[in-house]
Amino acid sequence: MNYRFDGPVSFSSMAAQAFLHFGISYAREGTASWIFRVQEAPGGWQAALVHEGACCAVSSVCRNRREIAHFLMEQLAGQTGKPLGRWGFMLGMRPVKALYPFLSAAGPWREFAERFLENEKVAPSVRELLMEAAQCQKAVLDQEKAGTTPAALYIHIPFCPSHCAYCSFPAAIVRRGEALDSFTASLCEDIRRAGALSRRKHFVIESIYFGGGTPTILTAAQMERVLDAVRASVPLQERVEWTVEAGRPDTVDPVMLQVLRRHGVNRISINPQTMQDRILAKVSRTHGSRDILRAFREVREAGFPVVNMDFICGLPEQTIADMEENLRVICQLRPENVTIHTLAVKRGSPFFEKEKEWKLPPEHEVEAMLHLTQERLLKEGYHPYYLYRQKYMTDDFANVGYALEGRDSLYNIQMIGEHQHVIGAGAGAVSKAVLPGGFRLKKLYMPRQPGAYEAKLSALCSARDALWDFLPDRKKTAGQES
Ligand code: SF4
Repeated sequence: MNYRFDGPVSFSSMAAQAFLHFGISYAREGTASWIFRVQEAPGGWQAALVHEGACCAVSSVCRNRREIAHFLMEQLAGQTGKPLGRWGFMLGMRPVKALYPFLSAAGPWREFAERFLENEKVAPSVRELLMEAAQCQKAVLDQEKAGTTPAALYIHIPFCPSHCAYCSFPAAIVRRGEALDSFTASLCEDIRRAGALSRRKHFVIESIYFGGGTPTILTAAQMERVLDAVRASVPLQERVEWTVEAGRPDTVDPVMLQVLRRHGVNRISINPQTMQDRILAKVSRTHGSRDILRAFREVREAGFPVVNMDFICGLPEQTIADMEENLRVICQLRPENVTIHTLAVKRGSPFFEKEKEWKLPPEHEVEAMLHLTQERLLKEGYHPYYLYRQKYMTDDFANVGYALEGRDSLYNIQMIGEHQHVIGAGAGAVSKAVLPGGFRLKKLYMPRQPGAYEAKLSALCSARDALWDFLPDRKKTAGQES
């Protein structure tokens, strides 16, 4: 089954997400079995759903996107017989964001937010999770109001030592120590330009995130050059939160860790995904569980105050007993942050075309793993503080970040909330400018391929600068040179 959408582009992703929930994909060409039309009407919009050439339903006048989504979801649920699911009418990948208007309003926000989630027909267990995450985020966002113009710096290093079967991220597979000098030099220049932009626009960077890929694929000397460039050119808040993903334990060693710590990195992410060697080999990770334990020990010895560990539920051949083993390891090591993902086989990943060849656990087992994980982590003193959904995820679960008291990652909260400027540097990085009003973003994507990124760097940095043209330059307001 497939669909076509006739209407304003601004509603097309909402329509895509609604159809995707019911297993109906976009018709790239030719005829479509479903047609969804939206057109302007006095006082708002009117929508109509057509199936196999016959009109199923026409909406009354909808005032906004949410009302159109309700109409479409209700109609598709009725026509296909598939229920709405645990998220009810909520379609966004960042569901906590829908609660922000309540968080910032005066009055009893919890009451209004709970009523809103009930109207959206969100399942009680998900409502609880969303409310808890919103509560944590409110505490962080309330502190922010006193600041200047806080912003985040995201640095993307798109190389990995091997290609995990479920992932579409890496732009290139390289061995550690292989020459990435030319890329490193370009990245340093990119960071200098990002620093100049920050100064011009009065940004003070309150969180830095090195993601990828696997940033620790750089040699210690290359990493030192990158960190020096950040320190020398970017205006940083005194207590900046600085995360480096050392996602692959086979790229972690004491020399690299010392370099990171010396420059002020205070949050490291080691991503085991799971602790069973048979599953790690199956998904093409080039390390075993012993490497994970060794890397964790070295990170602790180097004195990093916060460690995050990512795990995935739903990997091939993964069982509930495997997840229990993962939880035992988490409870022994007690990383300050734990992020629990549900497997999402991405388009462009080696897995994507061959999903049927892999023995993925059935959905009810994945659900049991997630349930077990949540129960155990809450009992161990962790709380959920951010969550997001992803396309192609098993069933309609979510990725959830848990933290020990006072250890929530500011970057993760801001990134999921999309209410802070993000300056992106590096091949594949995304920059996000929050437009006046706070609810719309202007984005710029750096090319993922390192060759294209390096060749066009200067023009790309100028295009990135232009994202923030709507803000005055420092020298214009203060009468100084930037
Ligand atoms: S999951 Fe991480 S380490 Fe594996 S290929 Fe993707 S980005 Fe690289």
